[in-house]
Amino acid sequence: MKIVLAKTAGFCMGVKRAVQIALETARGTEDIFTCGPLIHNPQAVETLREKGIVPLPDDTDPDHGILLIRAHGMPADRIARLRDKGLQIIDATCPHVVSSQNRIRKFSEEGYTILIVGDREHPEILSLQSFAVGPCEIISSLADARAFAGTPRAMVIAQTTFNAAEYEEICTELTRKVLQCKVFQSICKATSRRQEEVHHLAATCDAVVVVGGRNSANTRRLAEIAAAAGKPAFHVETAAELPLAEFAAFATVGVTAGASTPDWVTQDVIARLQGVIQERP
Ligand code: SF4
Repeated sequence: MKIVLAKTAGFCMGVKRAVQIALETARGTEDIFTCGPLIHNPQAVETLREKGIVPLPDDTDPDHGILLIRAHGMPADRIARLRDKGLQIIDATCPHVVSSQNRIRKFSEEGYTILIVGDREHPEILSLQSFAVGPCEIISSLADARAFAGTPRAMVIAQTTFNAAEYEEICTELTRKVLQCKVFQSICKATSRRQEEVHHLAATCDAVVVVGGRNSANTRRLAEIAAAAGKPAFHVETAAELPLAEFAAFATVGVTAGASTPDWVTQDVIARLQGVIQERP
């Protein structure tokens, strides 16, 4: 069995940066908290916890120490409230998310209705939404776009990890309903490159393994794309979850990993798959 590892597998710039900021912050003596996980990978978050970075539940505010803002960002009013309470704030929001936040604020202040395309409950969406000062709607699917009543002026922007093809369909539908519609291509290149590469892996391999947190939207999308291409697709968080017996049937297996998956987790998966190769007669 041949294993093909995607060039784009693993940490993107925003995640690498957030982890680096977290590790630098952990050198001090203050207690450090994140509201929700710093990044969407349970194994990485556990490693950070061992270094003193405590992930609180999404809806729980720390009452002392340092608040480290996660890579997806946090609602602006919540950050302001915690700053007023005297917490020190260290911002690890990905610069791409910051750019979407700034764009939303600017267009909202200019009177545009803001249409954010993404997963309603995702922390990035909750953060983006908070930067609108006027009307703002979340569009999660083509069905939502079809149900949208329309408005004279709107600005459309996507969650950075949204599916590129689906965003295009949704934008086509929305531009029909909005007289003056400004559409932004806010899907992060790290996401689109991973999506393109998983398409290629699915087309050229017998099966695809996607490594990463089940709570990671970009990882789940990679697995969905591989499955939609009609090839067996396995989404695993760790090597222990691989259904090894099923791999005996495949000559070539593609491996990729979400943007928040640490390399050591992916390497464990590859080592376990290589074990399958060695065990073959
Ligand atoms: S996927 Fe893109 S937007 Fe999201 S954290 Fe990584 S670099 Fe930033």
